[in-house]
Amino acid sequence: MKIESVRGMNDLLPEASAKWHRVESAARRTFAAFGYREVRTPIIESTELFVRSVGETTDIVEKETYTFTDRNGKSLTLRPEGTAGIVRAYIESNRHTVEPVSKWFYVGPMYRHERPQKGRYREFFQIGAEAFGSDDPWIDAEQLALVAEILAAVKTPGVELRLNSLGCATCRPLYRATLTRFLDGVADRLCGDCQRRSATNPLRTLDCKNPGCIEATASAPTTIEVLCDACRIHFAGVQAGLADSGVSFVLEPRIVRGLDYYTHTTFEFVATLGDVGAQNTVCGGGRYDGLVAALGGPAVPGVGFAFGIERLVSLIADDDADKQTPLIFFATMGDAAARFAHRALATLRRTSIAAECDYGTKSLKAQLRRAGALGAIFVAIVGDTEVGRNVVQLKNMASGEQTEVDVSSGLDALRARLTDTAHL
Ligand code: ATP
Ligand code: MG
Repeated sequence: MKIESVRGMNDLLPEASAKWHRVESAARRTFAAFGYREVRTPIIESTELFVRSVGETTDIVEKETYTFTDRNGKSLTLRPEGTAGIVRAYIESNRHTVEPVSKWFYVGPMYRHERPQKGRYREFFQIGAEAFGSDDPWIDAEQLALVAEILAAVKTPGVELRLNSLGCATCRPLYRATLTRFLDGVADRLCGDCQRRSATNPLRTLDCKNPGCIEATASAPTTIEVLCDACRIHFAGVQAGLADSGVSFVLEPRIVRGLDYYTHTTFEFVATLGDVGAQNTVCGGGRYDGLVAALGGPAVPGVGFAFGIERLVSLIADDDADKQTPLIFFATMGDAAARFAHRALATLRRTSIAAECDYGTKSLKAQLRRAGALGAIFVAIVGDTEVGRNVVQLKNMASGEQTEVDVSSGLDALRARLTDTAHL
C-alpha cells in the first residue's frame, strides 16, 4: 500500500524551492540590515506555553493545535506560531540582563489543524521577528519598514499595510465593554462562534471571516475612538515613523489580534492583486507589551510580526535564475575522457561553478540530450583525442558556436571562457 503525506502538509520539491530561497535570503539580508539576529527554538513546546500566551479562547488553542502526550505523560504541542517559543527563550536566557533591546528573527514550520485550502495548510512556514525591550513607537515603525523592505526585495506589488491600535490596559477594558454592548445588540446575526466569543473574547468577532459577522459588525465601535492619551501619542509616533521610512499604510480598525496581551499597534499586510484567493493576508503582527511578564518574565515590552512563506511565495513571479542550470556539462567518450571530466568537475565546483556530467556509459547523443534538458549553458565535449591533446571542445548551447580551449596549463582559460558574459 502506498503511504501518502499527511493531509494539509506539503512536500517542497526542487522546482519550487528556489523561490523559497529567494524569499528567505531576501529576508535574511533585510534582517541583517535592520540589526535582527536569528534565533532557533524547538518545534515542540509544553502545551501550557501556548495556552498561556496565545490564549485559551483563541481559535488556535481551542481547535487548531496538535497536542499529544509524550512517554512520560507530559502534554506537548507542535508550535502553532513562533512568538510563544521566542518569548520563552528570551525569558529563559535572561536576555534582558544581556542587552537593553533584543531584535530577533526566526524561520521555520508551524502546525495548525485547520481546514486545508489554498494558502491554508496544516504545516506551513513562517518568517517572523520580535523586538523586546522598548516601547518606542519607532521600533514598531521600523519593523513595518522591515516587512515592506522584504516585500519590495522579492517584488510583490499591491501588498497593502493595514494599521490599527488596540489601546492598552487603561483604554482596552473600556473598549471591550463598549464592543460587548454593541455585539449584544446584533447577537442574532452572529455565527455561533462569535456569539460565544462576544462574552469571552469580543475583539475576535471583528476578525471572523464569516460574511454575516462581517456585515453585522460593520458599524461596530472602533478602538481608535476610545484610545487614551498615551495610546494616541504612541499611535501618532508609529505613523510618523512610517512617514520617515517612506512606508505607506491605510488605517483599518478591524485589525485585532486574538491575544489579550496585544497592546497598541496591530497590523496586517494584505495582497490586493493577483490570484491569492481568500487567504490574502501575508503578514500579521503587533505589539504585546504584557506578554513577557505574563509568561513569568520581566516587565519588558515587545513587538513582532510573522509572515507565511507559502502565501508570500504565491505572490512572486518566476525568475530564470531559479532554474539552477549548469554552466558547463561535460559530455565524454571513453574512460580516459570520463576521468578527465571528473577531475575538471572537481576543480570547477571548488570555485562554485555549476558543472555537471552524466552517469553511466551513454552515447554522445544521449549525453547532449541530457545537457539540453538540464539547460546547460556550455557543453564541453571530450574524447580520447581531446584528452591526448589536453583540450576540450567547448560548445555554446545558445549560439551553437564551438571553440577549442587549451587546458594543458590548468582550467583558468576554460573558467574565463565560462564566466565571460559576452559569451553567455
Ligand atoms: P488567518 O487570518 O489567515 O487565519 P492568522 O491571523 O491565523 O491568519 P497569524 O497567526 O497572524 O495568522 O500568522 C501570520 C501569518 O502566517 C498569516 O498572515 C499567514 O500568512 C500565515 N498563516 C497563518 N496560518 C496559516 C496556515 N494555516 N497556512 C498557511 N499560512 C498561514
Ligand atoms: Mg488563522
